[in-house]
Amino acid sequence: MQGSSKNSQIFSNLCQAMERQLADHQLLAKAGQYAESYIDSLPGGRVSPSDEAVANLSVFDEAMPQGPGKAEEILAMLDKYGSPAVSAQTGSRYFGFVTGGITPLGLACRWLMDAWDLNACLYVMAPLNGKLEDVCEKWMAELMNFPKDTAMGFVSGSSMAILCGIAAARHALLKRKGWDMNAKGLYGAPKIRVIIGADAHAAVWRAMATLGLGKDNAEVVPVDAQGRMRADKMPKLDDSCLVLVQAGNVSSGAFDPMDEICDLARAAGAWVHVDGAFGLWAEASEELRHLTKGMNKADSWSTDAHKTLNISYDCGLIFCRDRHALLEALHTSASYLIASDKRDSMLYSPEMSRRARAMEVWAVLKYFGKQGVAGLVEQLCSRARLFAEELKKAGFTICNEVVFNQVLVQCESDEKTDAVLAAVQNSGKLWCGGAVWEGKRAMRVSVSNWRTTEEDVRECVKVFASVK
Ligand SMILES: *Cc1c(COP(=O)(O)O)cnc(C)c1O
Repeated sequence: MQGSSKNSQIFSNLCQAMERQLADHQLLAKAGQYAESYIDSLPGGRVSPSDEAVANLSVFDEAMPQGPGKAEEILAMLDKYGSPAVSAQTGSRYFGFVTGGITPLGLACRWLMDAWDLNACLYVMAPLNGKLEDVCEKWMAELMNFPKDTAMGFVSGSSMAILCGIAAARHALLKRKGWDMNAKGLYGAPKIRVIIGADAHAAVWRAMATLGLGKDNAEVVPVDAQGRMRADKMPKLDDSCLVLVQAGNVSSGAFDPMDEICDLARAAGAWVHVDGAFGLWAEASEELRHLTKGMNKADSWSTDAHKTLNISYDCGLIFCRDRHALLEALHTSASYLIASDKRDSMLYSPEMSRRARAMEVWAVLKYFGKQGVAGLVEQLCSRARLFAEELKKAGFTICNEVVFNQVLVQCESDEKTDAVLAAVQNSGKLWCGGAVWEGKRAMRVSVSNWRTTEEDVRECVKVFASVK
């Protein structure tokens, strides 16, 4: 047989096999079973993968197969070697980074959406997505007390949302000076002054550099002991300024004094972007809203739905007070793209083809309601406070004011802190990461999963105490 006709025979057999898989539902049922047994293994199971599980990943070091395999066997291999090598981020004792969790309804929606293989690019491709993006935009603006017509776009995460916010700012600030950014680019453009806190997240610096504003050009504002920008150290602002503030410092959880900074910026005609990857959600709670005071006076805001809201990866949100600034900055057109008078998602994001993220966000917002969202955020924060209190009782030093969901923990010396952190991580009973805080080593506990109970916290503190 000729090579190509052999390939076509092989692929025709594959098509038949795939039709059978769709018709008899076995493959998807099997995936469901694997998922359920993974979920069942979480309570009491290892939080970080064992060395053995990680070493076993070498089974994947195969040459690319010449011909087709068996779907059931491939899925089984993934479960057998993959599941034990997963960090239990959806369990109740993972406190690394700020990862969030996943709700059963969110997961179910995601499965359904994946079965639809919905492409959210244009309204004509997915009217459901367009509708739900509109609904989420309204709901979120209300939840966050943003101006009524605030625009919202769905992107992959905060990194991309920050990029969009800075792009909108760059576009609008230059437009006000009579400069068309899309047409002329940055060559010869009036200068944009970027004002940023010394403790801004790496994603903000990256977006600023990617968008040609130049890290070295930034005017860096000193921060206090919690990592908050000092409003009294702000440079004199003018209408060429982009001010980058943060709601939720990734280590301490602290919030920049947005009320004061936004007032200074408004008076000067500057643009303020808020990186609120996980902290933006403080606004949803009456109890915590003092942290985000004045935040709604900013011009754009970015957050993750995959952190505090416990949506699955990847899901970030960009908000912009001036809808046109966002849409013009992300400007796209091509003859085959059929724009409509309804929401075409690609206009609100730098991406075209992508999954319909709005479905899961809509479902979880509808499920929680405003009270549920507030309750979630308050629960995460109260568990973090409990963590801090119990760790203090056990003789550890808490180096931050626990205003949100982050707890920074230290021992007497850097060596001791590192040793305790390694022992905690190796215990398999919980996982948290490390950080450097004010020049000293620290352990960083981030409570961001709805499943974490008070009992989890107390049990985890016992682990810390036992390895001290
Ligand atoms: C996580 C985080 C980011 C980056 O978000 P991704 O969703 O990982 O891209 C930016 N800023 C802060 C404060 C964060 O916590």
